[in-house]
Amino acid sequence: MSPGRRDVLLNIDGLSTGYGGVAVVRGLDLTVHAGEVVALLGPNGAGKTTTLLTISGLLPILGGAITVFGESVAAMAPYQIAHSGLAHVVEDRSLFFDLTVQENLRLGLNGDRAGRAKAYERAMEMFPALQPLMSRQAGLLSGGEQQMLAMARALVSGPRLLLVDEMSLGLAPIIVQRLLPIVRKVADETGAGVLLVEQHVHMALTVADRAYVMSHGEVVLTGDAQKLAKRRDLLEASYLGSASL
Ligand code: ATP
Repeated sequence: MSPGRRDVLLNIDGLSTGYGGVAVVRGLDLTVHAGEVVALLGPNGAGKTTTLLTISGLLPILGGAITVFGESVAAMAPYQIAHSGLAHVVEDRSLFFDLTVQENLRLGLNGDRAGRAKAYERAMEMFPALQPLMSRQAGLLSGGEQQMLAMARALVSGPRLLLVDEMSLGLAPIIVQRLLPIVRKVADETGAGVLLVEQHVHMALTVADRAYVMSHGEVVLTGDAQKLAKRRDLLEASYLGSASL
């Protein structure tokens, strides 16, 4: 199905956002549909994390609008946005290192008993490697296991929209190669939309449907992921800030 015919889960229209009233992201338009994986790419400092934090309600909107499931996030507190079905895997994973894997997972549970059981089961199917680690403290897991736990904790909330900020941070490429396809699986099997910030551009493009490349706070390139993957020239130019569109 073409994205145009699917539900729009996230709509960003002319967004400006930043810190202390100073915009570091300007004029951003972006959409994520149900079942779609959208990659948000760009060099360090481009504004990707800032964008995700604003979608989650953790940074104020300075201009433009964001709607999640048709509701303006400006009118909601971060916990309300999370309860509406948005899960955010932050860059530092934000695990509770002193708690066990199981306890960390319990903190992610959301919704009614039946919904929680289903989401928990699905998360365990996606990350079977966590099963034997349930009673281990999160702080004792490897980097890859911690990332799996952070993703699983987001999935047990049964999200309709998943924001993932640099899951590959600090991980060997081989681990990233194993983890990224799970994001695709989440979108395909649960119908959730995924907005994926990733430094491994080519790996991200293999799992994404569409991509946006940001540079200096603005989108400089956007399009179909498969087509972009073949345009190394355009991608490199966009990272260097000289893409001609
Ligand atoms: P990276 O890939 O390095 O994480 P990014 O694209 O996610 O980069 P952001 O973290 O969104 O970029 O940063 C965008 C801009 O905002 C940068 O110029 C950064 O220095 C600035 N910035 C980030 N956090 C803060 C903050 N807490 N206060 C002020 N400026 C900030």
